[in-house]
Amino acid sequence: MRPVEIKITETFTSIYPAMGQYKQVISIAIILVLLVLSIYLFLFGPLFPFSPLIIGFKEKEYNKARIYYQQGDSTDEFCIVDSMIHDIENFHHLTFKNKVEIFLTNSDNKYKHITGTMARFITKPLYGRIFISDHAKIEYRNKKIHFETYLKHELSHAILYQNMSLTRSLSYPAWFLEGMAMVAANQAGTDGYYTYEQTKEKIREGYFVEPDDWGTIISIKGKSVLYCKIENKYWFIYSEYALIIHNLIIQYGQEKLIEFLKESLTNHDFYHLFNTLFGQNFDIYLNSIKNQ
Ligand SMILES: [Zn+2]
Repeated sequence: MRPVEIKITETFTSIYPAMGQYKQVISIAIILVLLVLSIYLFLFGPLFPFSPLIIGFKEKEYNKARIYYQQGDSTDEFCIVDSMIHDIENFHHLTFKNKVEIFLTNSDNKYKHITGTMARFITKPLYGRIFISDHAKIEYRNKKIHFETYLKHELSHAILYQNMSLTRSLSYPAWFLEGMAMVAANQAGTDGYYTYEQTKEKIREGYFVEPDDWGTIISIKGKSVLYCKIENKYWFIYSEYALIIHNLIIQYGQEKLIEFLKESLTNHDFYHLFNTLFGQNFDIYLNSIKNQ
């Protein structure tokens, strides 16, 4: 029996160091792959909006903004960007914490790849970076949509993102972001969006998209959004959210709205805050919109 015992021990001691080395090599390989993948995702992939390093873009510097564009493109439209930023800061009674960064892409494929959407414009949380698709550029350069209005809308998102934490942005009611941006850009009634009167008319006809169904920037949309039967429903929905805010201004004044906005950037209980500052339950306020 004794020789067999010795043989087993020898076999184990001779294999074990080799297995240890093998595991070490696998661990290093996994770390390297994850590192290369992360670098790719940040520099060229869907994490680009949060990348500390910008590669593949030229830069045009303004006092309050930096425009990133690609070879062969121009930034002519942005000569008014500083004054637009000034207007947006005044409207929200907030200041941009950092220079506004705006990205123009030369292809919709590239835009979709780094933003994950085909929406004309999108603003991402954290740094509040604004991305402009190639098809949006073509539309505003051909005067099919209003460049200033759309950019002001995105600047409203950007200033709020720059003034809230990343965690707050993930739970912030997205309907309020859109409504504020619509009002800040005076967008109701432009480029297909309903006027306030047209919106009220549709509500009287029985259409209503619940603000809560718009969710947050990371949630899926609720039933009243998904089953809204209006053609080009997003024009109506955004105008409805603008109307909810527009009516708040009429009833309580711009100052009260701004007080609410500022507190909501750090207070996670949005609807409790609404109740406290406006002195009425949000659902009751919403009923007044539905029944006007
Ligand atoms: Zn928006």
